[in-house]
Amino acid sequence: PVTKANSLAVLHLRRESLISTILREDDPHDPDSAADNVVNTRFGSFPHSTLLNQPWGAQILASKVDTGSRGRKPAGGKKRKRGEDGGGEDDGATPTAAGAAPSPKPIEAASSGFIHILPPTPETWSMSLPHRTQVVYTPDYSYILQRLRVRPGGVVIEAGAGSGSFTHAAARAVFNGYPPEQDGEEPVEELKFQRSQRQFGRVYSYEFHAPRAAQLGRELVEHGLDSIVRVTHRDVYQDGFNLPCQEADSLPAAAAAAGHRGDNDGAASPSAASKTSPRATAVFLDLPAPERALKHLTRTGTPSSPSPLHPRRTVHLCAFVPCIEQVQRAVAALRQFGWVEVSMAELAQRRLEVRRERVGLAEEGVRGGSAVAKDVDEAVQRLREVEARQKVYHDKQGKKKGETGADGEEGVEGEKVGKSGQKETAKQRRIAAKKDMQAERKLWKEGRVTHRPEQELKTHTSYLVFATMPVAWSEEDEKRMEEKYPVGK
Ligand code: SAM
Repeated sequence: PVTKANSLAVLHLRRESLISTILREDDPHDPDSAADNVVNTRFGSFPHSTLLNQPWGAQILASKVDTGSRGRKPAGGKKRKRGEDGGGEDDGATPTAAGAAPSPKPIEAASSGFIHILPPTPETWSMSLPHRTQVVYTPDYSYILQRLRVRPGGVVIEAGAGSGSFTHAAARAVFNGYPPEQDGEEPVEELKFQRSQRQFGRVYSYEFHAPRAAQLGRELVEHGLDSIVRVTHRDVYQDGFNLPCQEADSLPAAAAAAGHRGDNDGAASPSAASKTSPRATAVFLDLPAPERALKHLTRTGTPSSPSPLHPRRTVHLCAFVPCIEQVQRAVAALRQFGWVEVSMAELAQRRLEVRRERVGLAEEGVRGGSAVAKDVDEAVQRLREVEARQKVYHDKQGKKKGETGADGEEGVEGEKVGKSGQKETAKQRRIAAKKDMQAERKLWKEGRVTHRPEQELKTHTSYLVFATMPVAWSEEDEKRMEEKYPVGK
């Protein structure tokens, strides 16, 4: 329920402007640690000490922080540019995620601003993570994971891992809700059951670029996800997706204890083989040339190098492809390697601002009104409506004049006696007339509902190619089924 030291937290400056950071306690033996443990933003400075032990969602006021003239180079390097990194807007924040150093500038006293402290989720992580590559954002990965039917206990192959945005979303999707076993902990009954069923979801993530693979590995440890995600530094075009056998032995305690090999049906241990299959139920390829990895994603395999796909499950695949020519290449390769139900989708998500615009009031001289007719007929129609309303209004005014005398009783400085019998200025009369007019009409019902798409939405415009690999079906399977369900009986 509250923020804790050495765990990830997300500072919400405003929508689409988030900073993630590992919260640290100040070290009493290190006089510099208090100055290091500060997040600097355009809304002020936030020492970690003010962010610790706070209920998630709390509003935190900026603090006055004095770091003197200690100049330190920020580990993150240059400041983020609009649309380049992180939250997208230039929020003036120096990224201090995952232990990056604070701003080199002395921190100004700025205690007027505030932020909200949020628990990390794949969504907030995707918006605040330190970018190394283009990333897959929430609108895309939510759709992809749903189309891939990824669910708790599932096994996902992902390549390339890049900045790990998709990785985090996939880790949540496969996680079955049970924390990995701690040393010496007596597992609860449900956990024992889950383990006996070998329903530990896993993400096998492959990245060709060594520093990126290493950084993602570190982040996953910091986020407590290393028992769910295995990052492998590898060129998947060349080496495919199977893992050396010794890696299976180094599975984290929780999964290894359950004899977990990424399968849900207790299939035979692959320890006899020199390569271990992840036995994936879903595959996500975010690679420059996904078609080059497909030769490794077939049903065929040998005892020493089995298929990386789950042999008894239908496997779903998605390739994130930036251009249509590549879509064609990927589709051709998918067919060649036995994938079926090939389809392509493009996500064009827009957030729409919907409002009702008042129509016709501009013509009547009411401030704030605006109207643009679609065509001549609509303009004529609208003029008629306005004229009719004006006629009603003037008739009414004429009637009122009749009641109060020709022009009302003149008083000092243009004052007249109004309906109430009190003296009124010209302005008061105008306001009263407008009120009368508005009371007659249902202003909230007038006008047209219009919408405006938001300028920028963080999503990566790519084509999503989906395909399915059916369950392998051998002659033996056929015979078994014939025996079980004899024809005609
Ligand atoms: N999906 C990632 C995310 O959400 O953060 C972004 C992936 S990024 C666009 C593509 C990644 O594929 C790069 O990090 C690149 O190094 C990696 N890559 C390219 N070729 C590869 C290969 N042959 N094997 C493994 N990774 C590869």
